[in-house]
Amino acid sequence: MTMFADLHIHIGRASSGEPVKITASDKLTIQGIMGECHQRKGIQIAGIIDCASPPVLKDIKNLLEQDQLVPLAGGGLTYKGDTTLILGAEVELAGPHGGSAHFLAYTPTLGAMEELSSFLGTEITNICLSSQRARMSILEVNEFVTRELGGMFFPAHAFTPFKGAYGNCVASLDELGASFPAIELGLSSDSDLADRILELENVRFLSNSDAHSLPKIAREYNALRLQTPDFAHLKKAIHGDDANIILANYGLDPRLGKYHRTYCLKCDQVVVGKPPIVTCPTCSDGRVVLGVLDGIVTIAKGQETIHPSHRPPYIYQIPLEFIPGVGPKTLTRLLDAFGTEMQILHGAAKEELAEVVGSSIAGKIVAARTGSLAMDVGGGGRYGRIQS
Ligand SMILES: [Zn+2]
Ligand SMILES: [Zn+2]
Repeated sequence: MTMFADLHIHIGRASSGEPVKITASDKLTIQGIMGECHQRKGIQIAGIIDCASPPVLKDIKNLLEQDQLVPLAGGGLTYKGDTTLILGAEVELAGPHGGSAHFLAYTPTLGAMEELSSFLGTEITNICLSSQRARMSILEVNEFVTRELGGMFFPAHAFTPFKGAYGNCVASLDELGASFPAIELGLSSDSDLADRILELENVRFLSNSDAHSLPKIAREYNALRLQTPDFAHLKKAIHGDDANIILANYGLDPRLGKYHRTYCLKCDQVVVGKPPIVTCPTCSDGRVVLGVLDGIVTIAKGQETIHPSHRPPYIYQIPLEFIPGVGPKTLTRLLDAFGTEMQILHGAAKEELAEVVGSSIAGKIVAARTGSLAMDVGGGGRYGRIQS
């Protein structure tokens, strides 16, 4: 069965009113997320990565008591029988050279997530909040999650300059002292870029939204073939299996990501030129935010892209809000005509789109599918822009 999974979604606030991810929307509650996934996004597997927060654990227990959530035999929980909730936690851990990075931990059961919450809670200042720093080693947390709890553990948004394992800690994952079945690519990279790093040959790539609001859920997601939509089969797909596989990654054209190119903080602009550019070419100030592309090219040392045979296609999906000329009214017309964003982005033919929004916008939506639009690339925390 083919299904779609977004495994990195934040909670804004618990139903008690306690904040979980302060910068995220209040509408990101368990019910809000699961409803959005089912009704509007067409996502069948939702990974919520703030489940180690005790107020969130309490919400999950309440939903279990009300039978809105029901544990699945293979791990994970089903929400109203139609969407699978995978319990996750994002944690910040220090690398070997002073930088730190975010990691994603997923557990099969609520009991295991409670154990993880207690385990991390002793070394995190405020376990109620999202993505907090734990004073533990990467190896220690990896061993606990994978061996003690039977869970999964791997780097989040691996290339981003602030909290990515490659972006902020190391040039090789070997230096982290643990091995990982997968990495999350993050919005500013794709599998063409990541497959320039040879050590990732046997690592699976995941593309997730890191959503901080309901509309941003599924701006990146994974197409999976799973025998059953539960934790055990998801884990098989992520570890590499014949019957349960990652069919495709869907995500932003990386040029639109917020950290794609190096950004000079003094000149206040994205650098231009052949990567890698690691210092500003027009001033000598030196304060830059290293771009994901520039970082990967540096690590790859001239290596070109080599996709291993298991690597699925990476399909560009440019959110409609990025397309010049698509405002709220145009979006409503498109949704009325085609039903879902997925249908507009990937399904509708150019002629069908043109009948609703004219040939210029239709042409841009179709060109977005192949990455052939002209863009001002993103960097330094600012998204890229499609040229109008
Ligand atoms: Zn993160
Ligand atoms: Zn400069």
